[in-house]
Formats: sequence, C-alpha cells, structure tokens
Amino acid sequence: MKVIKFGGTSVGSPERMKKVADLVANENAIVVLSAVSGTTNALTEIAQLLYKNERNLAKHSIQGLLKQYHSFVTELLSSEQQLTKAKDMIESHFSHIDSFTEDLFTIHEEKTILAQGELISTALFQLYLEEKGINSCLLPALDFMRIDKDLEPDNYYIQHNLERELKLCHSKLYITQGYICRNVFGEIDNLKRGGSDYTASLIGAAIQASEIEIWTDIDGMHNNDPRVVDNTFSIESLSYDEAAELAYFGAKILHPASVYPAQLRGIPIWLKNTMEPNKLGTKIAKEIEEREFTAVAAKDGITAIKIKSGRMLLAYGFLRKIFDIFERYKTPIDVITTSEVAVSITIDDNTNLDAIQEELSYLGEVEINKNLSIVCVVGNFSHESMGSGNQIFDSLQNIPIRMISYGGSQHNVSIVIETEYKKDALVALNNGLFNQN
Ligand code: ADP
Ligand code: ASP
Ligand code: MG
Repeated sequence: MKVIKFGGTSVGSPERMKKVADLVANENAIVVLSAVSGTTNALTEIAQLLYKNERNLAKHSIQGLLKQYHSFVTELLSSEQQLTKAKDMIESHFSHIDSFTEDLFTIHEEKTILAQGELISTALFQLYLEEKGINSCLLPALDFMRIDKDLEPDNYYIQHNLERELKLCHSKLYITQGYICRNVFGEIDNLKRGGSDYTASLIGAAIQASEIEIWTDIDGMHNNDPRVVDNTFSIESLSYDEAAELAYFGAKILHPASVYPAQLRGIPIWLKNTMEPNKLGTKIAKEIEEREFTAVAAKDGITAIKIKSGRMLLAYGFLRKIFDIFERYKTPIDVITTSEVAVSITIDDNTNLDAIQEELSYLGEVEINKNLSIVCVVGNFSHESMGSGNQIFDSLQNIPIRMISYGGSQHNVSIVIETEYKKDALVALNNGLFNQN
C-alpha cells in the first residue's frame, strides 16, 4: 500500500479537490490531506485574536471563513443529500470553533481550533468520493497519531493503533488528516506547521508502505528556493541525507522531520506536482547521484550565540558545559564553530534565550546576534575532492559571512549570514554553482 499526501493548495479549491479524487480513485493507498489552503493561517489568526480577548473580531473572522466553506461545498457537491451532510458537518465544526470565543482561551483551545482545518478537508473529500461512488474509509488521525512527552512521535502507539483502525473498515482507499495528533496527555496537538508531510512519512513507516508520495504545487525539489530565485529547476533524484538537509535548512516543500521515518524503513519518497501530474518530480531514496552541487536552501530566524573565554584555552570539558545548558533548555543547536578561545552556536528557537544567556555568562563573555539566516549548500563534497569550497566562496565574494561549517557531513556546507543578504546570497550561488540567471 502507498501513502499519498496532498498539501493545502492541492485541495485548495473544489476543482482541485475533484482532481485529487481522480488521481487517487484507483489507488490502494492511505491518502493524507492538509487543510484547504489558507485555513490553518485563518485559524491561527482567530486564535491570536482570542488570546487578545478580541472576541467580536474573532467571531467576525469565524463567520468569514464559514462563508468561504459554504461556497466551497456548493461547488464541490451536486446531490442535495451530500450537500446537506456537508453543510451540517461544517456548521458543527464552526460552532465548535465559535464556542471558544465564550470562555478562557489557552493553548489547548488553540490546538483544538487549529485541528479543525484537516478535520473539515478530509470530511469534505470523503463526501465527494461518496457522491462519485468511490468507496473509501476515513481513518481518524486523533485515534492513532500521537507524540510522546518529548514531543517526538510515539511510533509504537502509532503503528498498533493504525493497524487496529485499518482493520475496522475495509477498502482499498483510506483517507486521514495530516498534521493533527494527540499528545502524551491525550489532548489534541499537532506536528507543527507543514506537519502533514511528517504525518505521511510516519504512516508510511508504520505500515511499511511501498512508497510515500507528497503532492504539492511544484514539480519536486528545486535546486534553489523558487520563492526567492528565478530559473530554478527540479531535481530528479535526491538521497535521503540530501533531502533531509534541504528540508531542515529551509526547503519548504518538505517538513524538516519528514525524511527520517521513511529513511529508517528504506521507503522511497516521491515529490509530485498536483497541477502537472505527468511531470516526473523528485525521487528521494538511498542512492546518491554523482554530482558536486545538488541544491541550496536557506533558513531564517537564526540567532548566533558566541561564548568567549580565556578558560577555554587548552581546557577540556568546556564544550560539554555549554551543550549541557542547551540540553536542559531543550534548545537544539544548528551550526557550531570553534576557535581556541571562543565557540559560536546558532539556534532557531529563542524561547529560552534569556535563561540560556544568563547561564552561559558564568562560562565566559556572551554575544548574541539575531536576524541571521543559514544558507546551506547541499552536494557531494568528499574530503578528497578539491575546488568546491572555492566555487562556493567565489560566488559569495560580495556577501559578508558570519560563520562557516563543513565537515560534519560530506553533503553540506552551512554559511551563516545576515538575513538582509539572503536573497543576494541565493542568487549569487545560483549563478556560481548552477550557471543560472
Ligand atoms: P503544501 O501546501 O503542498 O504542503 P508547501 O507550500 O508547504 O506546499 O510547499 C511547497 C512550496 O515550497 C512551493 O510552492 C515552493 O514555493 C516552496 N519551496 C521552497 N523551497 C523549495 C525548493 N527547494 N523546491 C521546491 N519548492 C520549494
Ligand atoms: N495545515 C497545516 C499547515 O498549514 C499542515 C500542512 O499543511 O502540512 O501548516
Ligand atoms: Mg507543506
């Protein structure tokens, strides 16, 4: 069985949702759907208004979104019976959302509101399949998708509960919600923005799928960020490691964690374009292509922390003390560079920055720089080969560089710059490494 995931734009209009139904009608698959595009953003805004106690504004936005869904269903469905079912379903989700405008608003209510997007899109899709006479079963993600106390997927729970759900209903075609899950307390939670890709990969690993297909609005992974650079091109094949690096360092097409579960089980991932299904897209698998430069990506919102200390000179145990602090505050480190008297570290989560800074100050002089980006060049830079570094830094000759990291793997050179230079850096690398304009 395959796992086939469709993102927000792929189900973003009634016409597109119908196209998705055509694409999966004859498949033996679990179909993972995101919310209709724009919905999660709209729900996030509603939640922000409720945090600020702007109840009337929130109610107004809820009504606006409800209206959009009413016109969506009238275009999607033609039989009176299905239309009535769809309208009842939507009304019930929206009155649930509306009920949160009356009471205390906390992160639990927010997460419940955010879950409604995927609950609605999957229910609508199934009503359409029913109308077309296509048999399918709806698998409630909240009954099998779960994260543990460290917010990591609970793979054992997922596999066993998914197996049970699959046995409860027989069909070639299953539909489920991306993104949403329960946490260790059984409360509604989610896999973070863009998390439907992660859902697809976790399900793929749980059922040992033959392949995982991620359908979106572009023909696969491009060699550079198409939102920033013109003339990017689709890459036919990527190794798991290359794809994971690109996803982690900003290639929005894939959720950062979505490669690993598939990689562990050796399941190929295909990235495909819903608007142009005949295009090949990108295959992500174990094989490594013989090429020097694969792609470039960039991640914003980076903070660099430099710890300078004379005590570090010829000392051991200094790095452990630093890492200890980051571990205690559950803050992952992205890039690290060291000299004999200083260590520079980057993080993308500033939640505990003040506390981390305070503790680091006992180890040495601390300097913080915000508004940075990591530009990541992915390729095959074996320790024996020559010239790649030259090409990268020649391209970046007009960009001020803060940090450089290579050697952690042979697939990645990471360069930290100020975000204001990101576009120039990505364009320069496109010209220098891929001969594009
Ligand atoms: P979906 O809603 O289907 O999950 P996303 O918006 O999350 O889609 O991801 C697809 C988008 O990712 C593309 O429209 C593109 O703008 C963006 N993107 C960023 N970097 C890349 C890249 N290297 N290759 C392809 N797409 C990329
Ligand atoms: N709907 C969620 C989001 O917009 C999850 C996803 O689309 O992958 O982030
Ligand atoms: Mg996405």
